[in-house]
Amino acid sequence: MRSILITGGNGGLGLGIGRYFLDHEEDAKVWLGVRANRGNAEALAAEFPGRCVLVDLEVTSRESWETAVATIVETDGGIDVLVNNAGLHRDHLLAAMPDEAWSSVISTNLDAVFLGSRAVIRPMMTRRFGRIINIASLSAILPPLGQTNYAAAKAGVVALTQTLAKEVARAGITVNALLPGYIQTEALSHMDDEAAKRAKAGIPMRRFGSPAEVAVAVRFLACQDAGYVTGSALKIDGGIF
Ligand code: NDP
Repeated sequence: MRSILITGGNGGLGLGIGRYFLDHEEDAKVWLGVRANRGNAEALAAEFPGRCVLVDLEVTSRESWETAVATIVETDGGIDVLVNNAGLHRDHLLAAMPDEAWSSVISTNLDAVFLGSRAVIRPMMTRRFGRIINIASLSAILPPLGQTNYAAAKAGVVALTQTLAKEVARAGITVNALLPGYIQTEALSHMDDEAAKRAKAGIPMRRFGSPAEVAVAVRFLACQDAGYVTGSALKIDGGIF
């Protein structure tokens, strides 16, 4: 069995990535990292008994990472794939940005990728195989107004990805980032119909992407044969950039 940990496993993209692995890879075992909300993840786990499991994971906590990774390594004998997917945004113009909006976005989107990557590197090195896939955002390279915090965090994730890729290249571990544009999940629920219409008008494909359209890229980067792809940052944005 391939052991795959996906953070933010109760959210739209985390669930979509988990389902994609479960549907397309018979020997995939998916660990969905969850914290407070877990209903969606439980429903997916019920569909795939024994192959989809929940694990408590607060991504901003070193202790939580250590416990979760130890549980997975003890149970499965190692960890093959980490998808750093948990994230949030708190948009404000910088002049009016509350400290908490800055720090929570940096810690959830950037610090967590550091903590998670560090937690899995040793078990991956032991087996001389690993795939780390970081869900950044198109905002890393094409930031909209109001996202200084989110754009800085996601650009940091891309830089972390490129640097770590070099550090672990000889250990059989690849590290890559994905830069999704608009993907239809709860994260877009703040948009009313008018805002969604305006956003779609700026997308050459004139539609939002689906979680499965990100998941297919995650699965490609996670596969054994993609071992020469590392340090990359792949846009999935319907042609915006
Ligand atoms: P959702 O809001 O649907 O899901 C986000 C998930 O992250 C939730 O499961 C949430 O858990 C979890 N999470 C947030 N903070 C923490 C934390 N401190 N510890 C553990 N889990 C946490 O968003 P998406 O699925 O759309 O987003 C997934 C990723 O994709 C994010 O990194 C986002 O930035 C990125 N992205 C999304 C885009 C989109 O258009 N949807 C575009 C570009 C990038 P809980 O439910 O418990 O809060």
